[in-house]
Order: sequence, then C-alpha cells, then structure tokens
Amino acid sequence: MNAQKLSKRLAKVASFVPTGAVVADIGSDHAYLPCYLVQQGIISQAVAGEVVKGPYESARRQVRAEGLANQIQVRLADGLAAVEQEDHVDTITIAGMGGPLIVSILEKHPEVLRSVTRLILQPNIHAKVIRQWALAQGWAILDEVILEEDDKIYEILVLQRGAMSLTDAEILLGSHLIAQRSAAFVQKWTKEIENWQRILQDLNKAEATPDIQAKREELQQLIQLVGGVL
Ligand code: SAM
Repeated sequence: MNAQKLSKRLAKVASFVPTGAVVADIGSDHAYLPCYLVQQGIISQAVAGEVVKGPYESARRQVRAEGLANQIQVRLADGLAAVEQEDHVDTITIAGMGGPLIVSILEKHPEVLRSVTRLILQPNIHAKVIRQWALAQGWAILDEVILEEDDKIYEILVLQRGAMSLTDAEILLGSHLIAQRSAAFVQKWTKEIENWQRILQDLNKAEATPDIQAKREELQQLIQLVGGVL
C-alpha cells in the first residue's frame, strides 16, 4: 500500500469522502489516505492527526515526499485535538482502530464536531459501539460497508447528522449490512455464532453459578438474534 495505491479497505473509506471536503484523518500513520485524496483531486485541504511520535513522523515524511505540505497539515495530537477551528474541517475519517477507541476520540472534543457534517469510521472490531453512540448523539447512518481483505473482515460506517431508529439486531449487525447480506457479512456472523456456541458448550459443563447462568443467557440471546437474521 502507498499513497497512490491504497488498500481495498482505505480505498473504500476514501470513496465516501465528498468532493471538495476538508478532511481530518485521525490516526493517520503514513498519511496515505489524505495524500491519496489530494492527489486524486477529491479534496484540496486536509489535516492528518497522529498521537504517536513514530507514525506522526512517518506521516510528515510522506506528506513532504509527495510535495503536499501546503495542503496537508500533519499534527501530533490526541484525537480531535489535531483539528483547529480555522481548518474548517467538515469530514472526519478514523480508520483501523476498535469501535470503543473511535467513540472515545469522538467524545473527547465535542466542539470539533460542531462544523462536521460527515464521519467516515472504520472500526476493526465492535462497530456496535459506534452505532450506539451515533443513535444517542443525533447521527444517522448514511451507508455501511463490510469487506474482506487479507483474511480480515472490516466494517465502514458513514454517518451524517439526523435521527434514526435501530432495532437491537440493527445496532449489532448494521441495518444496511443486514439489507445487503453480503458474503463477508454472512461469513463474519456465522463464525461469530460458532464461537458463541463453543463458549456456551463450555459454560454448560461449568457449575451453574448466577454469573455463569447470566453469561449463558446472554450468549443464547445473541445466537438467537444473529441466527434470526442470517
Ligand atoms: N488510519 C490508518 C489505517 O487505517 O491504515 C492507521 C491505522 S493504525 C492501526 C491506528 C493509528 O491510530 C496508529 O498510528 C495510532 O498511533 C493512532 N492512534 C491511536 N489512538 C489515537 C488518538 N487518540 N489520536 C490520534 N491517533 C491515534
């Protein structure tokens, strides 16, 4: 992967960036995504934020090497602290982290989100936490994608401001992903059910303490919920 040729996962994230957007890519080691977006003429201004020095320096080197230092501001900062008001950022991308970390980044600097109209989030795990956050914070899911790359399955959520309602199954699985029912989706959740069934079998052999009993019920409910969708 490089700034000219993104991974399938990041290329999909890029495909949701509106033309002319001002983007902040948070957790931008190598800054491949903002470099690609500028080089493709999709955007002309971006911020690349990184909290760790090594990846921050890689991002800076990459931006300089591509001759994009006037268009991409690389900043060493924790999450949305990388964004300044004068940047006029309207689109935020956060990719390659767990759902809970993505939500903690979004929650830490709510003032930055005021001017933002689109969030493109790619959690590696626990996308559910993002859907719960979106529901509670007045963001609606415009689109969702699930894809497989190098034997891993990734989800991408595109949020815009608005109200939505989601069932328990839709919070866990994604309403768009349920409707699409792609091969990657079926594969992910079939594996997940098999995993829950294995744990359940082990728990059935254990002494039935109240904790074990509660865990069993939780797993049975999950298996029923997801199994009902597949
Ligand atoms: N976004 C790239 C991608 O999807 O390929 C890089 C993903 S990498 C696995 C996650 C990056 O996020 C790391 O470089 C890490 O240092 C950075 N990161 C984690 N927490 C962060 C935070 N609070 N603020 C900024 N960057 C963060």
